[in-house]
Amino acid sequence: MTSTLSKIVLITGASSGIGEATARRLAADGHHVVLGARRVDRLAALVSEIQAAGGSAEQRALDVTSLDSVRGFIEAAHTRHGRVDVLVNNAGVMPLSTVDALRIDEWNQMIDVNLRGTLHGIAAVLPLMRARGEGQIVNIASTAAYRVDRTAAVYCATKYAVRALSEGLRQENPEVRVTVVSPGYTESELADHGGDPQVQAAVRAEAARLAVPAAAVADAIGYAVAQPRNVDVNELVVRPTAQQ
Ligand code: NDP
Repeated sequence: MTSTLSKIVLITGASSGIGEATARRLAADGHHVVLGARRVDRLAALVSEIQAAGGSAEQRALDVTSLDSVRGFIEAAHTRHGRVDVLVNNAGVMPLSTVDALRIDEWNQMIDVNLRGTLHGIAAVLPLMRARGEGQIVNIASTAAYRVDRTAAVYCATKYAVRALSEGLRQENPEVRVTVVSPGYTESELADHGGDPQVQAAVRAEAARLAVPAAAVADAIGYAVAQPRNVDVNELVVRPTAQQ
């Protein structure tokens, strides 16, 4: 059972990195966290860890590229708890390469996870929040939503799109809080999957030099969630001090 004082917070991509740290942070703040990702073994371990620390958590397999999967994730939580207070659209991928490499499958993967996945989350949760007259959608963008770099054109395109989408969503829904959190280099597994091997190795080297812990981004999310109902923190950019 969850206390009525705690929020029901759903987090996509909670099996590693920023999503995992956000689950820990929001559970420690007394919220009930519902964790989604494809690697359910990692989610199960995190749920056990949170519960052992006195927190409240549950998990469900989730693939954000599937609207049915996202609907199932959100509707199951809504049925069980009677409400969804916060959705953190965090799941993301970043297989970087120059455009002329034409790694089209990876372009589509970035569009499907980073942009379409976020849209799926909005599609599933917005009607519930509108019906209730309150709620918060936190979309994880990036410093790549503010500046374009070589090798990151498609990734930046998805993150600019998430930021644009969030602003439109905010304007249209005065009862729903819409927050964009944009990290810079952050410790996670983001550069471990796909992309041009040379580019990804360079990103990993830069991350090893600069990256802030995922908990630093989780703290920003926790701050935005903690604000009163009439205060919407719209955009937070959290980058390492030394990042250009
Ligand atoms: P990680 O690779 O550590 O985490 C990504 C998460 O997304 C994992 O939990 C993964 O879970 C999940 N995910 C990927 N594909 C899917 C899918 N199809 N369905 C459901 N979940 C999926 O990276 P980060 O923690 O860094 O990434 C989190 C967010 O932060 C992303 O949106 C990323 O773009 C953003 N970001 C990160 C930065 C950084 O430097 N780390 C900088 C700027 C933004 P699983 O594989 O188990 O499904």
